[in-house]
Amino acid sequence: MRADTSLPAFAIEARGLEKTYKASARLPAKQALKGIDLAIPRGSFFGLLGPNGAGKSTFINIFAGLVVKTGGQASVWGFDIDKSPREARGAIGVVPQEINMDPFFTPSESLELQAGYYGVPKSERRTKEILEAVGLWDKRDAYVRTLSGGMKRRLLVAKALVHTPPVLVLDEPTAGVDVELRRSLWAYVRELHAQGVTIVLTTHYLEEAQELCDTIAIINHGQVIACEPTEQILRRLDRKTLVIHPQHPLTAAPALEGVETTLRKDGALAVGYRAADLTVEAILERVKAAGIAIRDLATEEPDLEDVFVALTSSAA
Ligand code: ADP
Repeated sequence: MRADTSLPAFAIEARGLEKTYKASARLPAKQALKGIDLAIPRGSFFGLLGPNGAGKSTFINIFAGLVVKTGGQASVWGFDIDKSPREARGAIGVVPQEINMDPFFTPSESLELQAGYYGVPKSERRTKEILEAVGLWDKRDAYVRTLSGGMKRRLLVAKALVHTPPVLVLDEPTAGVDVELRRSLWAYVRELHAQGVTIVLTTHYLEEAQELCDTIAIINHGQVIACEPTEQILRRLDRKTLVIHPQHPLTAAPALEGVETTLRKDGALAVGYRAADLTVEAILERVKAAGIAIRDLATEEPDLEDVFVALTSSAA
């Protein structure tokens, strides 16, 4: 590591970043990134959140050197990926979405090969330390094909760490992963973060991003539509819906003070409110005062789609 004074302010920086995929036999042409400006501060635990197809993997893969951008600038750890591709690639470790490993290598061999690929001299390799850290040391000589799905995923994390990158990117790391593995994976990633590694996590789960990340950028249709400290973004999204099923289906939604009411197709009343402003009890009092007898109720949290609607409409 270099001395503190020469450390970059941003782990990852994109300026007007664009990617248009050409049409192929498999897929039509697509502008996946439409001029992204994004600066990920060094030392952050950063969430890149967006629905499937938003452009998250494309964005990440440009920095990993796996996708060639078609416009704009990108740098990793202060190294421009065009001018200093080797340094840029050396500063980032990417844990890919898909498990795509040679089944006939062992974890030990996989790490040695990966280290060779990055030009890490034999004397500086940390195969044992890394395999121990991800709990695979006792499986070091087993064929990858005999490992469980969870072990394979941990091996992917291990592979991303062989060159000790200051920036670690995890692309949808918990898709199809069980709860226990998720927990141990996050415990380890948190530890890396505490050691100073900048973590970038892509996910389409708001909950996951909100639990782990200090800053969240939301990307949709190839554009960044918000980038804020997690708390701030959540405050903006503090909208809940209370659904009231009345004894008798309603034919019109009554106007209630301080909330938005809409009539659902089944005659239920949906009440939109901010949890910071109102309690459920206060809403129920208003509903009862409007002469509605309540049979049942449910609350709905905003999902990612609602989040986009809220953010795009508030930006307009
Ligand atoms: P995300 O990671 O957010 O799910 P992606 O970056 O994988 O999104 O994809 C963004 C868009 O680009 C999607 O519409 C996807 O279908 C398209 N896309 C991704 N890879 C290719 C490719 N190789 N050729 C054409 N289109 C692609």
